[in-house]
Amino acid sequence: MAIGEVSRKRLRVRGIVQGVGFRPFVYGLATRLELGGFVLNDAAGVLIEIQGPVNALEAFRARLTAELPPLALVEAIDEEDAPVAAGGSFEIRASDGAGASRAPVSADVATCVACLEEVLDPRARRHGYAFTNCTNCGPRFTITRRVPYDRPGTTMARFTMCADCAREYEDPRDRRFHAQPIACPECGPELGLLDDRGRPLTDDPIAGVAALLRAGRIVAIKGLGGYHLACDATNEVAVAELRRRKHREEKPFAVMVPHLEAACRVAETTPDETATLASRRRPIVLVQRRRGAPIAPSVAPGNRQLGIMLPYTPLHHLLMRRFRRPIVLTSGNLSDEPIAYRDEDALERLAGIADAFLVHDREIHVRCDDSVVRVIDGDDYPLRRARGYAPEPLTVRPAFIRPVLAAGPELKHTFCLGVGERAILSHHIGDLETWEAMSAFMEGVEHFKRVFDVEPEVVAHDLHPEYLSTKWAQSLDGVERSPVQHHHAHIASCLVDNRRADRVIGLALDGTGFGDDGAIWGCEVLACDLTGYKRVAHLRYVPLAGGAAAVREPWRMAATYLDAAFGERARTLDLDFVRRTGQRWAPILSLARTGTNAPPTSSAGRLFDAAAALCGVRERVSYEGQAAAELEQLADPKVTFGYHCTLRGDELDGVELVAALAEDRARGTSPAEAAAAFHNGLAAALVSACENVRAGTGLSTVALSGGTWQNLLLLRRTRMGLRAGGFEVLIHHRVPPNDGGISLGQAAIANACIERGSRRAERDG
Ligand code: ZN
Ligand code: ZN
Ligand code: FE
Repeated sequence: MAIGEVSRKRLRVRGIVQGVGFRPFVYGLATRLELGGFVLNDAAGVLIEIQGPVNALEAFRARLTAELPPLALVEAIDEEDAPVAAGGSFEIRASDGAGASRAPVSADVATCVACLEEVLDPRARRHGYAFTNCTNCGPRFTITRRVPYDRPGTTMARFTMCADCAREYEDPRDRRFHAQPIACPECGPELGLLDDRGRPLTDDPIAGVAALLRAGRIVAIKGLGGYHLACDATNEVAVAELRRRKHREEKPFAVMVPHLEAACRVAETTPDETATLASRRRPIVLVQRRRGAPIAPSVAPGNRQLGIMLPYTPLHHLLMRRFRRPIVLTSGNLSDEPIAYRDEDALERLAGIADAFLVHDREIHVRCDDSVVRVIDGDDYPLRRARGYAPEPLTVRPAFIRPVLAAGPELKHTFCLGVGERAILSHHIGDLETWEAMSAFMEGVEHFKRVFDVEPEVVAHDLHPEYLSTKWAQSLDGVERSPVQHHHAHIASCLVDNRRADRVIGLALDGTGFGDDGAIWGCEVLACDLTGYKRVAHLRYVPLAGGAAAVREPWRMAATYLDAAFGERARTLDLDFVRRTGQRWAPILSLARTGTNAPPTSSAGRLFDAAAALCGVRERVSYEGQAAAELEQLADPKVTFGYHCTLRGDELDGVELVAALAEDRARGTSPAEAAAAFHNGLAAALVSACENVRAGTGLSTVALSGGTWQNLLLLRRTRMGLRAGGFEVLIHHRVPPNDGGISLGQAAIANACIERGSRRAERDG
């Protein structure tokens, strides 16, 4: 074909390409190159037809992938020739609502620099306006009711654009071209400040909230994905009062700081942590609290870490600029319920907690909590995946053969839809222990099915018969069920997270998971891939005396472990712990010894509980994982020796490990040294278990998953030992190591089993 000859191409672009300024970008590119054709959004993504001289088409094609708008995430571009058409200039055509809606909904995006400047500019039309956004920023997932993503499909549908907004919306050269949530003070949502009985307080709500916070009051603030409760984070009386009203004893509160400088005043942030803090996802980042930081002790009692975040909506920016001090910003709920997000519900549920309510009339369609991450070696290590991340799909290979729904676990619940090469992991739902959480789960499934146009044919679920998610999965009609073991799902989630599907050694460590022998598992060495697992080693079973009570009261586990190690001699150990609790042992030990209400467990969480109690950390916990987290912080990282924990057959002898800790403590070793030696000993035992598996199987990659790996000291020590031994180590980067990632693993395993089944069928046929 001669240069200059005209041809036409049809490009189908898939990925996150709607609501991210993709069409104006294509329009700008095509007009600059003087090409004809059109671009439109449809349910599958973006469709482009482009016509002009061949060399200009080539330039267009190259720049299309090289100059993408910041929020676009292109998965694939399919290209074909099309018949040359008559016609002149390039145009943006209206959305095509027909066909399968496979275009992913973008996650919510923090306010961009341009919008923030506008909000702060006294001459700008949107000066001081709390709902300013553009194509590069603003709410997405939380306001989307249906796809394709356009204004009528969002909760902005009820606001009619004013002439100025309409002009910006229609202008392909404007930053707000087709920005669906576009709004201004003339035509958009409005703020209001109400007292605790719903009566309006002032006509300057931001100033009103700042004044209330300064006076030590608690204010409920409607955010992007739900209501938060806020108070002055430097005011101990206010923070303690918030704890009392919220019935939250010790679980740390997150803090919002006005800007990065303020973040550095309260925490010792590394450059990588700063980058994550300021990213457009704006998660809560767990950082090292600065000594003497002006933060009330009740914000994170007994904790060296602090969860901080930066403002992510104009509302937060305006408030933080007015208040100029860190504020506690915690989910608007009572203890462990899901966050309140509907106005009437919030006013009702948070009455008695909040003194006032900062509300607005942009409805939240999907409840979505703040995300929480730690940063390890420059990489994100998510602990809760929600706002800013969900529902961004993860690419999965091999692709899903049939649409799969994974029902998830019980605690830190998420669910997952698998279709094509996409695993769509839901936002964090919470603990499935209340009706509120259960209905959030069921509504979430319906919403995701609609928005992503998936009708699951296979439902994966946990083996635990008592999980509400399991019961729900078993109640569904017309689907195939695929039960998945909890710790296998953990390791599978880590494989998918790392875009792997090979056979590995899995170290699955957590608090509780239902084992295939009916015991409560939690420290498991698996040889596994996505299709199956072999449990090659595990922590020696001990009785979980009193079941759930043993989880709440770590001293029970310490007594049980000491009894297993020393029998009656345990009472003669020269330990504070024995003197303090010895009187209470008898009923526990009788349960343990007879096996009454004392199921066997190999839980790593309970092992940590025992060690924590013996190090004097605590005898009771008020939230999951508390004792282990505090033991990690107590440990002296300079200590390099570790207690012995022998691998006998397929058993890691945790009893020996705890016995060594107890005897060392009795000899006067400090809690900080003992805590470190406990971590080191467990890490060394896990490494030697892996060496054992490698000798038998040749496997040399180790995947670390399960809630215990939120403990970075254990993670670092284990990884160091494994790497020194020549192992490749996989850790999480995109989904949490805790149960928040379980549903992803369930979906991947269900799919691999279907694939294996169909391969078998091919072979047999
Ligand atoms: Zn913007
Ligand atoms: Zn307007
Ligand atoms: Fe787990």
